[in-house]
Amino acid sequence: MEKQKGRRLLLMPSPLQGHITPMLQLAHTLHSNGFSITVIYTSSFTPPHLSSSYPNFTFLSISDALSELEASTSASDPVHLTRLLNVRCVEPLKQCLVTLLKNDDRVACFISDAALHFTQSVCDGFKLPRLVLRTGGASSFLVFASFPLLREKGYLPVQESRLEEPVVELPPLKVKDLPKIETRDPEAFYEFVVQFVEECKASSGVIWNSFEELESSALAKLRQLFSIPIYPIGPFHKHFPEGSTSSSLLTPDTSCISWLDTQEHNSVVYVSFGSIASITKAEFLEIAWGLANSMQPFLWVVRPGLIRGSEWLEPLPSRFMENLGGRGYIVKWAPQEQVLAHVAVGAFWTHNGWNSTLESICEGVPMICSPCFADQKVNAKYVSDVWRVGVKLENKLDREEIEKTIRKVMVGDEGKEIKDNVLDLKEKAKISLKEGGSSYSSLDGLVTDILSLKSSTSEVH
Ligand code: UDP
Repeated sequence: MEKQKGRRLLLMPSPLQGHITPMLQLAHTLHSNGFSITVIYTSSFTPPHLSSSYPNFTFLSISDALSELEASTSASDPVHLTRLLNVRCVEPLKQCLVTLLKNDDRVACFISDAALHFTQSVCDGFKLPRLVLRTGGASSFLVFASFPLLREKGYLPVQESRLEEPVVELPPLKVKDLPKIETRDPEAFYEFVVQFVEECKASSGVIWNSFEELESSALAKLRQLFSIPIYPIGPFHKHFPEGSTSSSLLTPDTSCISWLDTQEHNSVVYVSFGSIASITKAEFLEIAWGLANSMQPFLWVVRPGLIRGSEWLEPLPSRFMENLGGRGYIVKWAPQEQVLAHVAVGAFWTHNGWNSTLESICEGVPMICSPCFADQKVNAKYVSDVWRVGVKLENKLDREEIEKTIRKVMVGDEGKEIKDNVLDLKEKAKISLKEGGSSYSSLDGLVTDILSLKSSTSEVH
């Protein structure tokens, strides 16, 4: 601990909820290991409460030069937003580093979100070692790293007629499980992925919010592919007690916890599709009726913006919730970790964002999978077919299918098997963080390696 006292780490998250949370959790863990922390964030996304949640960190804003309109695309087209940031933040980050490094010769390294690949060449210019945080899973990253091969073999771009074909190079995936994203320029998505993978390879190491026992096969393949160290040190949020940090950009509605307190153990279906995904009005209504007809109590996060073309709950038939007699509860944003840890929750209907997937595993909650875009399809495949801790809602959202799937998970024999599997993984996650466990040891290695990274910044300035 003594040696790293005063060594400073510069961390730069991508400004999306699913990226900010793990970066701040990582910062918290490294701070507990004796490092000083500076978080560099982009000016269009400045939630003032974040800095007050982490009084021990220094927060520094750099201009991203985005117009209001450009910044507002973060939810509808995160790829476009990230591509803009990779261009617009180059000069501001350079200026920021000039000042920072002039005033502080104790900077050990820069830790960047993988999506902000421009930071590699900026750091190279300062001879500042760069580590990468990949906020998604290792299995989906392996798919991203295989994009050139997938294109060469004709799997990409995905063709509707080939959806059921196996991707023989990446078992057990089928073509339909490959990452897809709605963006104004699909070719740009491909180029972006290739670039962020290349800049990971050029870094001094990649940190994963995952654990060896969960993704051993993908991690082993990545170790073969990459000549840099790989540090699976997750699940990040379990490194410290629940509630000790908060990185939510929206204010969670905690009234749902009192409602959960009134429900029977393992009875509630918790429904949330994360911070970015959106659905049509027709899908929203199928979900509403599917939930109502399942007869299970449900807690549903309907984020403003979730339903395309609606402010909030306008498409819901009048008195829909009242007619359920208290069996349903809707919030705009939930304290998700607390919800998943609640004894009343029996299943999580999720879009399989990586954070949500890990959070569900860590609380031993079986999943119903409705992946929307990017890595979520790969995550859902692993949840349903590899770890067998959930079931996929395969086809388009349909109320009868939804009702059947909820029953399968909540009351059927398959549901019991899934519950056993997820409890087993929950235990493995716990063990990985204990002294001698895989993530514990990997974190030890990371701390040691950071201290031995050769930074020559003082020679440059
Ligand atoms: N989350 C939350 N309250 C909600 C919905 C989501 O706190 O009502 C959190 C959730 O716990 C997770 C993050 O938002 O940490 C979503 O990240 P994820 O990777 O699952 O999905 P994304 O939002 O990036 O699509």
